[in-house]
Amino acid sequence: MPELIEVETYLKAAGRAIGRTVATVSIPNRRYLAGDTRLSDLRSAICGHQLQNIRRIGKLLIFHIGPASIGMRFGMTGRLVVDGEVSIDELLYTTNEIQEKHVRCVITFQEEGEIAMIDPRSFGKVEFKPDESRLGPDATAISTEELLPVFLDTTASVKALLLDQTRIAGLGNLLCDEITWRSGFDPRRAGHTLEPTDVERLASVIRATIEDLSSRGGSHMGDLQQERRQGGTCPKDGVPLARDTVAGRTTWWCPEHQF
Ligand SMILES: [Zn+2]
Repeated sequence: MPELIEVETYLKAAGRAIGRTVATVSIPNRRYLAGDTRLSDLRSAICGHQLQNIRRIGKLLIFHIGPASIGMRFGMTGRLVVDGEVSIDELLYTTNEIQEKHVRCVITFQEEGEIAMIDPRSFGKVEFKPDESRLGPDATAISTEELLPVFLDTTASVKALLLDQTRIAGLGNLLCDEITWRSGFDPRRAGHTLEPTDVERLASVIRATIEDLSSRGGSHMGDLQQERRQGGTCPKDGVPLARDTVAGRTTWWCPEHQF
């Protein structure tokens, strides 16, 4: 699924449309538009206005168009196609083939081109004036000071806390497993058991892992990834990996070096 690394790639791809003027917007299935916004209201707010800027917080992409803002959330399988070009080749759990019925939102421009959201499983959303206030700090540059309160006084698991977008924004299942594996923490461990030095190490590993996997091309490029399977072993010490559902997600970890 798209995690912040993939959404950052979408952000860069969409950047070429900055400065263009919105001609039309279509959302074939009304349910893809979040909340009670009407498509006609969205259209009157953005059509005829210039795409001025695009930002990302966590996994949320925000388009500033004239006086309005539009958010895109990519769910499990959302991809952004800009001027007919797919910005990432591979996304786990989805097909690379684009089918008409999977096109959820298209913004076309007066000058040329279009931005299209393709989302086979349709868990994503387009949101008028997206609420950013409920998102925690972006994981890309998370500091120890920002991460410390996340683990304070809570029995929630490390994995659940890292996945919680209101506490730290941008991490999904694959990045979380890679990060806990690299940093040596059991994903089931209660948050409050982490010492400040542990949190400092975790913050450092989060930043480094995002940088590393971004340069390799995606959230699915982690060292642990190919061992996330029946019979998979830890790439560090060769011990068979453990698998369980943690925080509602399929989780893999090494019972030897993660504690
Ligand atoms: Zn290990």
